[in-house]
Amino acid sequence: MRLTRQERREYLRREPRVDGVMNSVEGLAELPRVVRRDICTAVALARKFNDLVVRPVYREIDERVRRDHDFLPHDFIRTANRWGLFSLWIPKVLGGGGLDLLSLYPFLEEVSSVCVGLANVIGVHYLGVSTLAASWNVRLMDVIYREVSRASHGDDACLISLAITEPLAGTDMEEPELLQRARIGTVATRTAGGWVLDGRKVFISNGHVSTWHMVIAYGDRRNPLETAVMAAVRTGTRGFRFGAHEKKMGQRACVASELVFDECFVPDELICAAPAAFAECVKDPRQITQDMIDFVVASSRAGVGAFATGAARGAYEAALALACRTHVDGDLLVNRQEAQLALAEMYRNVNMARTLYLEAAYANALRGMFRDLYGRAVHLLARLTPRWCFTAFLSPLLRRESLSERIRRRAFDGYGEEDGRVASGWASIAKFSCSDLAIRNCDMAMDLVGAEGLRLDGGVEKHLRDAKLLQIYEGTNELNRLNLLKTLVVPNVPEARVFE
Ligand SMILES: Cc1cc2nc3c(=O)[nH]c(=O)nc-3n(C[C@H](O)[C@H](O)[C@H](O)COP(=O)(O)OP(=O)(O)OC[C@H]3O[C@@H](n4cnc5c(N)ncnc54)[C@H](O)[C@@H]3O)c2cc1C
Repeated sequence: MRLTRQERREYLRREPRVDGVMNSVEGLAELPRVVRRDICTAVALARKFNDLVVRPVYREIDERVRRDHDFLPHDFIRTANRWGLFSLWIPKVLGGGGLDLLSLYPFLEEVSSVCVGLANVIGVHYLGVSTLAASWNVRLMDVIYREVSRASHGDDACLISLAITEPLAGTDMEEPELLQRARIGTVATRTAGGWVLDGRKVFISNGHVSTWHMVIAYGDRRNPLETAVMAAVRTGTRGFRFGAHEKKMGQRACVASELVFDECFVPDELICAAPAAFAECVKDPRQITQDMIDFVVASSRAGVGAFATGAARGAYEAALALACRTHVDGDLLVNRQEAQLALAEMYRNVNMARTLYLEAAYANALRGMFRDLYGRAVHLLARLTPRWCFTAFLSPLLRRESLSERIRRRAFDGYGEEDGRVASGWASIAKFSCSDLAIRNCDMAMDLVGAEGLRLDGGVEKHLRDAKLLQIYEGTNELNRLNLLKTLVVPNVPEARVFE
């Protein structure tokens, strides 16, 4: 069958959206050109940061924490803060540096190629930032993000952590279907003027070094999706204290903390979201909670992909360097064919991983929670308007509850099921593929360089210890495989049942 001339003309004019086309290809048409420039800026910045800050201290910090589990890398955090790294990816309208969010991922890859633990200190702060953003509570975003940005001009950083995991509920807390039967321990009880939190959270990255904590609790443990509450709790609040540090095998620079809530009162002004109370939204509160979970994990799992690509690259670079100075039978290891085959495969793995996390990041930009920010007009306005203009005129507006309500209605009621599935599915692909590739590269690097790789200063064993954690957090790789199946493989197969 041939198209008529008229049909052909129409077909070419429409720029059709075709299912299954790569997200990055869609991005070429839809994302502003400045995204590329910001990515290059972020990579150049990360390389400089690695040379001047990360390489000189990362081994010492890792070793220090091994000897003393209570050690916290305050000096590193202060330095990163002085570099502006905790506010650089916060929008200018909310007081931040305004670098495009897509550029955060390559930045994290670069730092992870030296030390995933220190990259996570920076990356997990943005997990807290994006969790607050997922609530679309613009008033609270304006308050907390401005505090983060003000702190970047001072000595002490203001970081944000995310607290979901509990002693008896990990994987279950990341998946709406599993949440229903999770053994939840942290509850929120309604009281005059706010909510009271009781319970414990564990394995909270950056907990001890953060000023704010985004805490997810539930009004009714039997109906968690309907009764979810996201509260912003400040360090020092009555009824909130830190418990122990976890003693973990890798990423030691990034503390994993226990947070304890004992009749901790959180006033209504600090409640980021309570979907059951979103009278302005038509959508069911269960669906809104699900959207919020999808929003958060779609951006954070792509971030884990970036960490993992860094780890895969660090292992490959260490193996190449060792192969270039190790002699076997009178010749350099790098000239033996088995070493060449291994190095080629490792290089391929790094690039495959990078392609996957970027695909996930593009899916998130086009279909995730920040998709509206990529409209050309919004993007241009956000970049060209001077900062003083935002502070003087927009900030007072942002603090009006009515604006938060409007934005929330647009964000949740306008968010389609398919967009959520694509962003979440791609995030899972990036999460489990990149972390598996990182482990594969660390393993190959170990095999290639032999005993040298096991040495604490050999550069390979630390990548392996760090990479292993990436297969576990942000939902184990098993859970992410199942989520991929649910979101992209069988959504239209009525016979298939996932998580039931
Ligand atoms: C270093 C580190 C940092 C972390 N940082 C944070 C943080 O900042 N904030 C936070 O909230 N959490 C954090 N976590 C927690 C992390 O997200 C959880 O560890 C993760 O979700 C897995 O939960 P779990 O460890 O309880 O494993 P479990 O849920 O106990 O799972 C154990 C095993 O059972 C499998 N499994 C469980 N349920 C299912 C199912 N339904 N179907 C198939 N398989 C299943 C899992 O795949 C896994 O193999 C962190 C964890 C680590 C290790």
